[in-house]
Amino acid sequence: MTLLTGIVLGNIAMALLAAVLMWRSLLSARDLKAALVQTQQMSATDPLTGLPNRSGLLSRAVELMAAADTGATMVVLDLDGFKMINDTLGHQAGDELLGAVGERLRACLGEDGLLARLGGDEFAALFSGPEADADAVRFIGCAEAGLARPLVVSDDVVTMTLSAGVAVANTSDIAPAELLRRADIAMYVAKSARHTCWAAYDTEMDESLQLRRTISAELEAALTRNELQLVYQPLVCTRTGQVMSAEALMRWPGKEGRAGSPGVFIPIAEETGLILKLGEWVLDQACIEIKRQKTIPIAVNVSPVQFRVDGFAESVEAAIQRHGINPELLRIEITEGVLISHTDEAQRTMRRLRDLGVQVLLDDFGTGYSSLSYLQKFEFDGLKIDRAFIQQLEDGATGRRLLQSIISLGHSLNLKVVAEGVETEDQAALLQLLRCDFLQGYALGRPDTAEKLHALSFAEMLPLTRSRAH
Ligand code: C2E
Ligand code: CA
Ligand code: CA
Repeated sequence: MTLLTGIVLGNIAMALLAAVLMWRSLLSARDLKAALVQTQQMSATDPLTGLPNRSGLLSRAVELMAAADTGATMVVLDLDGFKMINDTLGHQAGDELLGAVGERLRACLGEDGLLARLGGDEFAALFSGPEADADAVRFIGCAEAGLARPLVVSDDVVTMTLSAGVAVANTSDIAPAELLRRADIAMYVAKSARHTCWAAYDTEMDESLQLRRTISAELEAALTRNELQLVYQPLVCTRTGQVMSAEALMRWPGKEGRAGSPGVFIPIAEETGLILKLGEWVLDQACIEIKRQKTIPIAVNVSPVQFRVDGFAESVEAAIQRHGINPELLRIEITEGVLISHTDEAQRTMRRLRDLGVQVLLDDFGTGYSSLSYLQKFEFDGLKIDRAFIQQLEDGATGRRLLQSIISLGHSLNLKVVAEGVETEDQAALLQLLRCDFLQGYALGRPDTAEKLHALSFAEMLPLTRSRAH
């Protein structure tokens, strides 16, 4: 089967799937299971090359690494000068070239390797078993030679060079995402080196441990001095056009540079354990805000580290009682990382939270390991589709069908569906048509102070499409 027929067949399958899901009332348990599997495959596959994407690689890597006691070796591979080819020959040629590169790399893989396209011109290969290191080195050599042979793209002939990073896990203690991150860092080192096309990760390449400790200590001091803030971003109902809830997001005012972004300081706080104190503070602040305005439900993000601590649900109950708030106005967002390693405890905690009346939402849906099975196992109230899917919305039919099937899937499991990272009015209008329940993103409102959120709660935020407004 050629790449193109694969994509076309995939599209047809998705169209059929979407049609089946539209008839929700007719959806049997078997159909649902098939749809789950299909959507899972689609969200784990890169449509351009037919290879697993980042999420597909990570979920397969979990299995592979658990099975191979001997550890695993990850290679991240980046094409040199791809951007220039893309700019001069055009995007169509760029896509063709990536497809051809995918084929050449596949031919180098051997029996036990797993190849994926991470995005752009970045590929990854994972090897496990006793020969993993040697397999990885052989793969890089073969890939280098393969790309040095002429590739015909449109009417041009090009040859490519690559830069590669290698990271080795001797035990299964290192999570696949961490192994990938290390290989990525090594790849950047290789890219800037002149005499070699690949480099192996060592800890000195990483941001220093010392730096992370300093950031954590500064963050703790900022917390003690009451310098941290919460901002609130509205979630807008596509049926009424109005704000129905908000997400609380942490800010560290005064901290310059990348370290001031929660995307950077939260993982550091998770590493050092400070996240537990931060999490308590966030919960308290959100409760204070709920008590003050009494109408808009507020969701807090809960880190896996917090969720796993014994007595987490009890601490939420205590906060609700301490502040005397209606538990139905408090929501909790968790990512599926929480659920993977401690399934039973996580299930118990979730049940306790829901018994309290607190709603639980699955965050960043579609980016994790095996999202769909968790939807069935855990009783979520809603799911938030990661913004990576929303960004694909205007790219073409595949992205739209995938979203359609995720939304229908959520509905057939009785979940409210939120689209994250909605940045344009066109995306908002499309998502309304696809019957997504709630939208969140810059197009609807940026994270801002509680006062601004309150003001927005009186505004009509979305024009209603005819199909929704009846
Ligand atoms: P998240 O939970 O997925 O939150 C959404 C992130 O997307 C926020 O980034 C938000 O500002 C950003 N965002 C919202 N709309 C748009 C949009 O239209 N386009 C784009 N490009 N981005 C948009 P932020 O505030 O930097 O937070 C990053 C992450 O840090 C959050 O991702 C969450 O995982 C974590 N985080 C933030 N606050 C907390 C917290 O209080 N506790 C914990 N545990 N994690 C937090
Ligand atoms: Ca969130
Ligand atoms: Ca999210």
